[in-house]
Amino acid sequence: MATTDDSFNGLTEHCEDCDLDTPHEVSVQLRTESRKEENAQFSREPYRVAECKRCGTRTSQRMNNA
Ligand SMILES: [Zn+2]
Repeated sequence: MATTDDSFNGLTEHCEDCDLDTPHEVSVQLRTESRKEENAQFSREPYRVAECKRCGTRTSQRMNNA
């Protein structure tokens, strides 16, 4: 675990675009993966979204590995 001195609400992660470790704002989004509306409520997957505060690039990862 990285520790930071500031109180920034986020994490420092490596950004591919910046090629640096930069502050990221991290949030979780639910995304619907199914095209069928009737199944939508069963197919929402939580994604962890990290946005680079330096260049604005967003990266997302599915949190479930099921
Ligand atoms: Zn960046």
